[in-house]
Amino acid sequence: MQSSYDIIVVGAGHAGCEAAAAAANMGSKVLLVTMNMQTIAQMSCNPAMGGIAKGQIVREIDAMGGYSGIISDKSAIQFRMLNRSKGPAMWSPRTQNDRMMFAGLWRETLEQNVNVDFWQDMVRSLIISKDGKRVEGVVTGMGVEFKAKAVVLTNGTFLNGIIHIGEKQIGGGRTGESASIGITEQLVQMGFESGRMKTGTPPRIDGRSLDYSKMETQGGDEVADKFSYLDNTSPFIGENSKKQVPCHVTYTNKNVHDILKTGFEKSPMFQGRIQGLGPRYCPSIEDKITRFSERERHQLFVEPEGWNTVEIYVNGFSTSLPIDVQQKALELIPGFERAKMFRPGYAIEYDYFPPTQLNLTLETKLVDNLYFAGQINGTTGYEEAACQGMMAGINAHLKINEAKPLILNRYEAYIGVLIDDLVTKGTDEPYRMFTSRAEYRLLLRQDNADIRLTPLSNALGLAGNERLERVNQKINGYNKIIDYFKNTSGEPSVLNSFLESVGSAPLSQKTRYFNILSRPNVLAKDIALNDQQLSDFLSVYDNETIEQAEILMKYEGYIEREKESADKQSRLEDLVIKPDFNYDSIKSLGAEAIEKFKKFMPHTIGQASRISGINPADISVLLVYLGR
Ligand code: FAD
Repeated sequence: MQSSYDIIVVGAGHAGCEAAAAAANMGSKVLLVTMNMQTIAQMSCNPAMGGIAKGQIVREIDAMGGYSGIISDKSAIQFRMLNRSKGPAMWSPRTQNDRMMFAGLWRETLEQNVNVDFWQDMVRSLIISKDGKRVEGVVTGMGVEFKAKAVVLTNGTFLNGIIHIGEKQIGGGRTGESASIGITEQLVQMGFESGRMKTGTPPRIDGRSLDYSKMETQGGDEVADKFSYLDNTSPFIGENSKKQVPCHVTYTNKNVHDILKTGFEKSPMFQGRIQGLGPRYCPSIEDKITRFSERERHQLFVEPEGWNTVEIYVNGFSTSLPIDVQQKALELIPGFERAKMFRPGYAIEYDYFPPTQLNLTLETKLVDNLYFAGQINGTTGYEEAACQGMMAGINAHLKINEAKPLILNRYEAYIGVLIDDLVTKGTDEPYRMFTSRAEYRLLLRQDNADIRLTPLSNALGLAGNERLERVNQKINGYNKIIDYFKNTSGEPSVLNSFLESVGSAPLSQKTRYFNILSRPNVLAKDIALNDQQLSDFLSVYDNETIEQAEILMKYEGYIEREKESADKQSRLEDLVIKPDFNYDSIKSLGAEAIEKFKKFMPHTIGQASRISGINPADISVLLVYLGR
């Protein structure tokens, strides 16, 4: 049995899978140790990927050669582009997924990678070098030792996990799976700080017991898109495409709320048995009816769990109330009168490690070559976990090969925003991504993640040449389209009736297509539908390229402004502060600033400026000392 590897990844959730795949694809020999090989890439909660800001992250992972996008596409049962009615910075792809297929595809993908070995076991402790400064491997529950040059911990919700249902408490990392014991205790002993967080999940229902005629139907997009920039990943595009599965919408009501309230005295949340903070933006139903007591009803999304199962996920009804209360309340929801539960909702409390203990590479500051990724860092969500896993895998590989780390900036990727937020500001409640967290969201669109990130990733040997060629073709294509729009004009006689039909003023003379496009309600494809000259020109380009050109033209002014601001920021990010910089030697810095700088050890002046409590004067002093 091989006992020595380049990199060991602990945990095969969303973070662990992407970490193992990235490191292995870059050439590291990886061992993936996970407690249960049947639950690789398990979706612990809702069977869906993407959504607002999260969809952008999946696109970024895909652009870099990760697998979350491809696997989400292949296992999709429904696709929707959320926020289509808003500006393109807000468009967010989302898939409803077949839970079992998603997990199966991940396992297949990893098994096909010759650089990934597997070991089913619980890691109980880390092997640390004698001087305590470097990780050297792991020891498992079965007493097996594996050595490695780097270790990535992605333990998810498993570290000392406790499941709560009503008054019952069960040790576990997820329902039916045991908790991970030992790692927290060892890390705390070594000087790491840990905390407690909680999350919850709704009951799963037998779809055969539901009456859908009492609910609203919510279908997928008429023309489905996909996450991946590669072809042939979506079952809804191309020949023999499948029909999407609809979801449904129903609502709670006062009677449901009244029944739920009868369980409050046994609620682990309200009776103080749960100490960890939960995700504010994903509250339990008992939380919602308490915090928003004025609301008479709450929306519930009734989501199928896959192509070939009757299991239903009740999105919006996360709860840890006693099982009998869950059942009684469900039966009062329209369409759920005969609902049969497959399994109850529950809450789970687990350990996390405040992420300010990490460098921007996700390596811990305390122990060299030890990386943390995913829920262990205080985040929530598959997408947030997956992108951290990918970045930890990449950086672990780069570190052991003595190469320069990969740090994505806030103006380059949502992934950069997420990691910078975690490491620089920390989090005391489960962190999820929102578009509002990104200062440069017009630059960080879901449609241009390939342009932003594929060249970077290709240079590292991760995103393949096929991806890069596609990006180059896209850039070339949209530049030609923009050029044409800026230099060719449409005729009033051809376009005026169309323009009037969309409420736009008629043209009085020949007008550049660029200017016509800049009008509200006017889209390139609609101009082309009414103008043979433009239609002929655009016929050689695919929709993706045309859409990209259109966004760049319609929002040119705004995008330019954001780019200028990002350029300014990038100048600060380029000013690297050496890790051994002696803050104590700066007499003109206040004690608080020195303490903060020493705690966070910012990598650049840009990062230093975002530390909470650091003011512009502190930064000016630093700049002087750095010779600027
Ligand atoms: P996980 O997906 O939890 O994977 C951890 C992996 O590590 C597992 O494979 C486990 O077997 C393995 N492992 C753990 N310890 C060890 C060890 N010592 N040795 C070997 N292997 C180990 N997210 C949301 O966005 N919204 C929600 O509403 C939501 N609700 C949730 C409800 C519940 C009940 C749970 C459990 C999670 C919920 N999540 C929710 C969180 C979401 O599941 C996680 O964010 C995501 O799965 C985290 O991915 P991860 O890779 O960090 O960890």
